[in-house]
Amino acid sequence: MGVEQNLGVLTVPLNKAVNWARSNSVWPATFGLACCAIEMMGSTNSRYDLARFGSEAFRASPRQADLMIVAGRVSKKMAPVLRQIYDQMPEPKWVISMGDCASCGGVFNNYAILQGVDQIVPVDIYVPGCPPNPDALIYGINQLQKKIQREHFSDRR
Ligand code: SF4
Repeated sequence: MGVEQNLGVLTVPLNKAVNWARSNSVWPATFGLACCAIEMMGSTNSRYDLARFGSEAFRASPRQADLMIVAGRVSKKMAPVLRQIYDQMPEPKWVISMGDCASCGGVFNNYAILQGVDQIVPVDIYVPGCPPNPDALIYGINQLQKKIQREHFSDRR
């Protein structure tokens, strides 16, 4: 039996403790592009209660956010703006592509719409659907939490 157990002290590697804290306080940037954003807003209401997972604090400034939820189609005109917001977010940061339009252009297979937001920002989680309901987004956030918990400091890009 280790000394820690004798003293009733719980020891956890620093990496795991930091990841646990990070994964339970992921704050999204307030940023919606189209219809999917309505479902994203719905995830914080009392029925779905995103606060259960610590991610209800949508931040008005990218400098206070560590999650970008790309909710809706991205026009080519909007793409540089989206990238600028992403660049203004501090590390570590993550991206969820919410809905078919954000992930692959959806039904908008035309010259004006980006055929996948992963062409301009690195995407961690894709949430399929048109639109994905709040449950699906919350499931995506849960998957992101699991991913963060497996990260090592040296993994960050
Ligand atoms: S995936 Fe569907 S709901 Fe979402 S932005 Fe595209 S058309 Fe709208």
